[in-house]
Amino acid sequence: MNREFRLYNTLTKKVEPLSLIEPGHLRFYSCGPTVYSYAHIGNFRSFLTADLILRTAQALGWKTTYVTNITDVGHLTNDDTIDASGEDRMASALQSSAGERFANVWDLSRHYSAALQSDWQTLNLLEPDVRPRATEHIREQIQTIEHLLSCGAAYQTSSGVYFSVESFADYGKLSGNKAAESLELAVRDVVVDPEKKDPRDFALWKKDADHLMQWHSPWGWGFPGWHIECSVMAQAYLGDEIDLHAGGEDLIFPHHECEIAQSEALTGRPFSRHWAHTRFLQVEGQKMSKRLGNFLTVKDLVHERGVPPLAVRLALISGQYRKPFNFTFATLRDSERHVKRFQEAFQLAKEAHDGGAEGTSTITETLKNRRQAVLNALLDDLNTPAAIAQALGGVRTILQSRNQLGVHAYSFMNQVSDLLGIVHRNTGPQNQELTMALGIGRPEGNTPENDPHQDSRIEELIQARTVAREARDFAAADKIRDELLKMNIVIEDSAGGTSWHKKSNI
Ligand code: AMP
Ligand code: ZN
Repeated sequence: MNREFRLYNTLTKKVEPLSLIEPGHLRFYSCGPTVYSYAHIGNFRSFLTADLILRTAQALGWKTTYVTNITDVGHLTNDDTIDASGEDRMASALQSSAGERFANVWDLSRHYSAALQSDWQTLNLLEPDVRPRATEHIREQIQTIEHLLSCGAAYQTSSGVYFSVESFADYGKLSGNKAAESLELAVRDVVVDPEKKDPRDFALWKKDADHLMQWHSPWGWGFPGWHIECSVMAQAYLGDEIDLHAGGEDLIFPHHECEIAQSEALTGRPFSRHWAHTRFLQVEGQKMSKRLGNFLTVKDLVHERGVPPLAVRLALISGQYRKPFNFTFATLRDSERHVKRFQEAFQLAKEAHDGGAEGTSTITETLKNRRQAVLNALLDDLNTPAAIAQALGGVRTILQSRNQLGVHAYSFMNQVSDLLGIVHRNTGPQNQELTMALGIGRPEGNTPENDPHQDSRIEELIQARTVAREARDFAAADKIRDELLKMNIVIEDSAGGTSWHKKSNI
């Protein structure tokens, strides 16, 4: 059986097997959204690449530690230049007359973060182990900047603290943007701090006592740059060296190039072994952007146009992540038909399973091969079109062989669903027992607010989730996490264990 997971690595420019620092354990960081607006389907295409990587790794039996952040400060309007300029996106969204209105930037952030989490669940993405927020890690960012200053990789001017690109010899190794002259051209039109030593240098800290979100630092009141947050949060939850870092193609430069410079200047070790970038999605041939406001959201498609969520998911993964992808309503209609077939096949397979049918050996063999082919396609640089075609082949077999199905048809549907996420998970008999033992799905009315034993119950659920994860029963673990979310409890995994807090501050 093929056990190599091959992915294109932007760093080496080759499709190569994911080689893990600790065999069998994937440490993975993927850049999350800036919560100044609803995430659009392009953002979700990138998040889905990470989701499929995670599902494929788990199908190989790997342990996964997956961190994806929320950017809620420091991402400026002109972020494609080496040293981003313009206004903070959060602050400018608050002051803009377009979109929804909020009383302050924290309310705005809370609203769009909650919308993100809801869309995340709607599209059936696996929950990350940790979803850190930049504003909750300012202290660590300040400490990191202090270290960079003390090792000579950064310097202070009257407007901020800058990373010194000249001090880092490998600058440009990810994006190929090495030549100082061309970078100078790129920054020519940007208003730069005249005290900067090199136009390529980028801000780690911006001094700004008038900024809507500001913190006290050794350099006065201000806020951190966008790039430093991801370096710091990746290191905090995954360690100095990680296996894989992902994002959309626009992040290769400058964001990820700058992350490498900061992290490697700090630790002297390679930051991430592999880098995966998703090509941009267009809609009906048009570039979409939150900034231009011409974007489609999950809410538009699912809640306003009534498209089944899993059809949106299937459409978004129907093109391989590295190929240009044009999202069309025709694709969406096809996906809707396919999802219906998946659901029908799932129902038939479940009935065969519940009825204890044996199934014929030919069908069993066909479905086993199809399942392997779905996995093999994903192991081959996430070839989702091939994986979906193989899955649909299995679905066709199930729909055409109603009376010959047995338990294997059901495990095929569950395994394919675990891989592609296009049928809502069914937790199976073993998990149902766990679910019942924990009282998950208890009747409405017994809300956590009026339960005097809520804290011990939360601890009990967290303990059960740890047991399920150790047993690699991710379906059960996810179900417990969802149950906690329903109780407004957000859990966070870190090296030291699992902690929890109430959702009110999200
Ligand atoms: P942002 O909210 O702009 O920080 O973006 C969040 C993630 O979505 C990043 O990984 C971006 O690279 C990615 N992204 C943004 N636009 C698109 C798009 N049209 N297609 C695919 N990914 C995108
Ligand atoms: Zn990032």
